[in-house]
Amino acid sequence: MKKRTVFKQTLSIMFIMWMMLCLAVFAVEAKGIQPKAAKYIILIIGDGMNIEHEIAASRYLYGNDFELSFHKLPYQANVATWDVTTYEHWCGKGSYNPNAIKPKCGYDPAIGGKKPYPLGPELPGAKEYHIAKATDSASAATAWATGYKTDDGNIAWLPGDPDNGSLKTIAEWLRELKGYAIGVVSTVPFSHATPAAHVSHNKHRNNYHAISEEILKEIKPDVVIGAGYPANSSCSDTKSSAYISKGAYDAICADGDYLVVTRTTGVDGGIAILQAAQQAAASGKKLFGLFGGSGGHFESLVPHDLPDTPLVTQATRENPTFAEATLAALKVLSKDPDGFFLIAEQGDIDWANHGNDFRRMIGTMKDLHDGVQGVIDFVNQPDDDMDWSNTLLIVHSDHSNSYMRNQVKLIAGELPVQNGPPYTYPEGEVTYSSTNHTNELTRMYAMGANIHKFMKYEGKWYPGTRILDNTQIFHMMMEAAGVPMESPLKLEPRSRGWHWPRD
Ligand SMILES: [Zn+2]
Repeated sequence: MKKRTVFKQTLSIMFIMWMMLCLAVFAVEAKGIQPKAAKYIILIIGDGMNIEHEIAASRYLYGNDFELSFHKLPYQANVATWDVTTYEHWCGKGSYNPNAIKPKCGYDPAIGGKKPYPLGPELPGAKEYHIAKATDSASAATAWATGYKTDDGNIAWLPGDPDNGSLKTIAEWLRELKGYAIGVVSTVPFSHATPAAHVSHNKHRNNYHAISEEILKEIKPDVVIGAGYPANSSCSDTKSSAYISKGAYDAICADGDYLVVTRTTGVDGGIAILQAAQQAAASGKKLFGLFGGSGGHFESLVPHDLPDTPLVTQATRENPTFAEATLAALKVLSKDPDGFFLIAEQGDIDWANHGNDFRRMIGTMKDLHDGVQGVIDFVNQPDDDMDWSNTLLIVHSDHSNSYMRNQVKLIAGELPVQNGPPYTYPEGEVTYSSTNHTNELTRMYAMGANIHKFMKYEGKWYPGTRILDNTQIFHMMMEAAGVPMESPLKLEPRSRGWHWPRD
């Protein structure tokens, strides 16, 4: 059979399947029977990752593009990630009005593109535009954790830092409305911007001690696993680090609700956290895992330059991998009969990209890839309540970083020639144009309960495209959980015909 005929047949089969899905959904909704709510929500963040990093890691591991674990998830979209600071950079100080938002002030598809490169063309001037101004992790996480746009550095707090600006997060909403257990996992400090924006509130992301105290003494999530470990500390010898106060450390060690496990010299951190999770799950306790090294993160995985035989190893076994930490969280959270919300972040993809460190980036991407596969395998286990009819998995990146471009297609196991730090690539296999975040569109991948409801969000902020805004992810998750909320943000009525000042 000719290739084209097969292609056509596949297309028509796909169309018929899609029609059947639509009819089934319509029939269910017409009868007033609600499709199952997402009882288990797992949000995985690759911090500072964009599609070129995804492709680079996929090529290193498999020799092909788009072979990572999350590339096979059925729902895929592109997301605009701008925050209020970026918006006001383009449209003027004080121009952001939540009741009359002009989306193009934050991201203009006519300049930046309707799709991220290489899914779409690289438009002239796009590079300068993307590099000029971008969100930070605090305001980006606040967007999907609360449904509000805010300015740089804010942790679940309104822009402009008003005194009463604390915003309730999706973890708090789902705990209150649905009784869900809540958990955060990060390979960088648990009090760092991305995890923090789900389980604390602060005007400044760098107030790590206050944030650590709010998380561990007030919000008290069912699971917290992350870096920030003060060297040579333990519950019998607590200390502070930049990321946890001694008061917070003392409080969690004295808290009978928690089982605490910390990094220990010569002890396998992956086994330790999974054994502790087993024990916590059996005894109905919460779990706090404190790991990481002097750099404030789980030492990143290391890829080796071995053409045709990709190999990524751990720098130390004293930290869990991202997959081990995430599975430990799932073990504990899945004991809650009401359901759970988990946010798990591979946070040092971003740190690698700030350093233009390709090798470290590959190691961190492999860590993320394994973590997502671990989650998929966990949900696929038979004989429990969890399956894809009641579980929603989202994999997303908070923002792009570094404007990296793969200039040469490397084979599996092959790494570019890399000198530094500061890192340079004399053979030109890859190029970097920034050591900072960029305003490029990021990718979102999803599978499971209620993803058929996601499509209607596409292009609402950007007519004529399929771009999502990052605040919509809050609403997509809340709707999937069966508790939809109206957006606090209103688009300017005339924003359809509105143009960025350049034209
Ligand atoms: Zn960053």
